[in-house]
This record gives sequence, C-alpha cells and structure tokens, in this order.
Amino acid sequence: MNALVYLDPGKIAWKEVPRPTVLEPTDALVKITKTTICGTDLHILKGDVPAVTPGRILGHEGVGIIEEVGSAVRSFKQGDHVLISCITSCGKCEYCKKQLYAHCEDGGWKLGHLIDGTQAEYVRIPHADNSLYAIPPGADEEALVMLSDIFPTGFEIGVLYGAVKPGDVVAIVGAGPVGMASLLTAKFFSPSKIIMIDLDRSRLDLAEKLGATHVIDSSGGDVVQKVLDQTKDGVDVAIEAVGIPQTFDICQHIVRPGGHIANVGVHGKSVNFELQKLWIRNITVTTGLVNTNTTPMLIKTVESNKLTPLDLITHRYTFDQFMEAYAVFGNAAVENALKVIISRT
Ligand SMILES: [Zn+2]
Ligand SMILES: [Zn+2]
Repeated sequence: MNALVYLDPGKIAWKEVPRPTVLEPTDALVKITKTTICGTDLHILKGDVPAVTPGRILGHEGVGIIEEVGSAVRSFKQGDHVLISCITSCGKCEYCKKQLYAHCEDGGWKLGHLIDGTQAEYVRIPHADNSLYAIPPGADEEALVMLSDIFPTGFEIGVLYGAVKPGDVVAIVGAGPVGMASLLTAKFFSPSKIIMIDLDRSRLDLAEKLGATHVIDSSGGDVVQKVLDQTKDGVDVAIEAVGIPQTFDICQHIVRPGGHIANVGVHGKSVNFELQKLWIRNITVTTGLVNTNTTPMLIKTVESNKLTPLDLITHRYTFDQFMEAYAVFGNAAVENALKVIISRT
C-alpha cells in the first residue's frame, strides 16, 4: 500500500510500505477513505516531536471502512463505516473509567506519533471498540473527518473547560481550525459575544461568517485594549488556541474577575504567568489534551445540522496528491488554507 511516511526533519514522502495487519485481538484494520493534515503533523515534519521516529506513517484523523477485525472486537465488523478518534483508548483502565481517554494507560495520542497513522491506504487501530465510532448511514464523511480531532479539541478543551455559559463574553485567540471549532461549538451555549482574534484577515472574515460577533486583527497591535473596548471589564472566557507566549499573555490580560482561561494551544516554551496579578481575581486556568469523549454527541449535532464542520474545509485532494496537500497546508496563510481533505479517490 502507499502511505505518507516521515523520513527526517523536513522530509516526508508518499511511498510504498507494507500493509498493516491485525496484531492484537482488539485491533481493527481500517481502509481509509478520507483523511486530513493537522497542524501537529507540521510540527512533526519540522522535527519538533522527537518521539516520532523516521519511517513513521503520519496522521491521526480520518474515516474509513473496516477491512478486518480481531477476534475480541465486539462493536464493529467488516464493512462498517467508522470515524477514527485521534485518541486511542482501552476503555478499561483507571483513566478511561474517568473518561480521561487522553491518558489511557495503553492509549492516548498514539496514531501517527508512536504507531503508524491514518495518512495511508490502511491503518491498524488498537482497542477498536473504544477508539472508533460508527458513522450513521447517510452522514457526510468529509464533515466527520473534522470530528477525529479538531472539533472535540475545540469543544472539550476550549468550550467545556472554559465553562462557556449563556450570555458569556467569549474571546478566542487564534482563528485556526481548532479556534474555529471552538467558535462553532461555543454557539451551543449562546454566549452574548464571541470575539475572534487573529493576524489573518481571511480567517477573520470566515470567523465572522461563522458567527463571531467581533473580530480583531492582531497585526495592528494593542489587542488587549481593543478587547477591553468591546466589553465592560474583560471577557468571561478566554480561549487560547495558538500556543505561544504572546497569545497566552493576551488571555491573562483580557479575562475578567471570576473568568476562565482555557488553554488549547500546544506550547513549546514557558509563558510569563502573572500570578502576582491574577491570584486575587478568582481566575480558573485549564489545560488539556483532547479526550474525544464528546465525539458521539458531536456526531449527533452534525447529523442534525446544528454543527457544520464542512465550513472549515478549503481544499480537497486525492491520495496521489498528498505531497501537494502538505505543501498547500504548510503554506496556509498564502494559500488561504484552513482544513484540507485527502480522499482515496
Ligand atoms: Zn491533530
Ligand atoms: Zn484506558
């Protein structure tokens, strides 16, 4: 089969590799029909994730059809259409019992990281019963690819950990795919204002179309003052969806007393956390890796059209155009790319 293989920092190739097989009774082999590229894959490509070793097949998002199941798989059979969760979980360990699937003792983020991933014609999924979700008949599979990672991440780590409530003023710093997913799922709770902050004008335009009540172009500077100008004394929830010290800094300066900072961004270095100012303000700061425990609920909202993940897809490719898809996604600002779909045919 062919797969997208990480070779060395800066080097990947769409090349022929052996097809995976069922290794454990709890495994399923899935024939991938659609997948996508995540910002995390670009970090891996740069060499920022040393746990990813040369030869690894990348990708932790996708949908497909079950080709084969191990003898212990109970919930799925050959031919079933499935959504692959970016998080592998056994369903039985202490963390899984608490629905902290991200910290499963035999799972967590493994696909395209510690084991071969979904940017391939076939993928082996461990603990298939708990790590796959059935796709309802007639559902849009492109939309569901967005539910492997970015929608549960934006919803669980941004909106739910941020405790967005009706009437809240919410600011989302970063209008990338996960920031947009936070925007779309924050609307479940009817906040009074959603302020979207980014450097990229075209992303802000899309955010407005998707329901942001205010957008702030951060390239002009003075972001904190611009947010405060839109509010009485700051925001109830500040969602950090970039992962650099400057964007965390914005969040800690715009959150009002009693408010929440929900950090979603993947940080590579320490931030200046002004605890000496925040200790007296009754602020909650949360962090997290997605658990994907809300995936079944998100599938229902897509089915009923309450959630429209298709709005985030800007480019479509086939497997033989994988390298082009990476080139475009890697140059997202110039290409106006948000999410790309790569299909088998
Ligand atoms: Zn991802
Ligand atoms: Zn577990």
